[in-house]
Amino acid sequence: MLEVLREPLETGQIHLSRARQRVTYPARFQLIAAMNPCPCGYLGDSNARCHCSAEQVQRYRQRISGPLLDRMDLQLSVPRLPGADMLKPDHQGAETSATIRQRVEAARQRQYARRGKCNSQLSATELAEDCRLDSTTQALLSQAAERLQLSGRGLHRVLKVARSIADLGGHDDISSAHVAEALQYRQITAA
Ligand SMILES: [Zn+2]
Repeated sequence: MLEVLREPLETGQIHLSRARQRVTYPARFQLIAAMNPCPCGYLGDSNARCHCSAEQVQRYRQRISGPLLDRMDLQLSVPRLPGADMLKPDHQGAETSATIRQRVEAARQRQYARRGKCNSQLSATELAEDCRLDSTTQALLSQAAERLQLSGRGLHRVLKVARSIADLGGHDDISSAHVAEALQYRQITAA
């Protein structure tokens, strides 16, 4: 059933066909999903509690198809926090939500000023115009695309994320650091 998310994730619309009619509904949404690394949930944990076999882990991960994962821009592994850290009242030195919100709003304003829409909605042509890369950065991206076996769609999505990282930092140009950071957010595809 998860696979039906592929169409709205890509087009922002959902088409329903019934016997006599076909309806299109708007369906632009932000998907946030979580899964365990393996059936027991402890794979990669320092306490070595996981005894899942490689085959079990693979079968478990196959519940999310490659094409669906490909449509998720940020894929991160989040390690368990040590108990002592979870009990701390707050994370000292961490930014507040209000500060982060200001930065996000400024980045969105840059996107709307440039193209009248969010980076995620850029067409392939707009992407090529707004995400020009120097030759070093281009080489970095094409090597990574090879190593991670990125699809054309995956590559475009990495570029859009790199564009947003540059916007968050207030930069007009996308640097190799921005592309490298965007690539780091594809951890699960790389696994
Ligand atoms: Zn396990």
